Amino acid sequence: MSTGDIFRANVTQGTELGLLAQKYMDAGDLVPDEITSAMVADRIAEADATPGFLLDGFPRNIPQSEWFAGLLADRGLDLDHVILLTAPDEVVVGRMLARGRADDTDSAIRRRLDIYHTETTPLIDYYGEKIVRVDGVGAVEEVQQRILAALGQA
Ligand code: AMP
Repeated sequence: MSTGDIFRANVTQGTELGLLAQKYMDAGDLVPDEITSAMVADRIAEADATPGFLLDGFPRNIPQSEWFAGLLADRGLDLDHVILLTAPDEVVVGRMLARGRADDTDSAIRRRLDIYHTETTPLIDYYGEKIVRVDGVGAVEEVQQRILAALGQA
């Protein structure tokens, strides 16, 4: 369940959520936590999440993580693992420029990386031993195999 994909679907459909989120996305800023968290709560309440779920792109800062911990506790759920994909900034920027998404402008890319380093990296300590670190440099299939292997061992 990718928060970015859900936001993009809302932008395409022109929903109220999409209209609200778009200016943040275009600038490479995080959409405000209340909006993002409410969306995640709705998504994981859907039937297909009952057997378990994998979140992509959430949480991205400590307040989201703390809110999420509360939600999981309320529902009697626990996280099994947190997958940390590592790649140098140059590699990440190269991929973003190659995929050419609407929000992959120079300034939005810089802003997203900046937020990643200041707001998202503290989650590595926050999640401690739940972290499964995987080398994210390589082809999609290679990285996918590494993730599966690392989860198999974890
Ligand atoms: P992504 O597809 O993960 O690159 O996300 C695209 C954009 O959606 C981000 O630049 C943010 O504007 C927004 N977004 C996605 N996930 C989150 C999140 N967890 N918190 C706040 N904004 C988010």
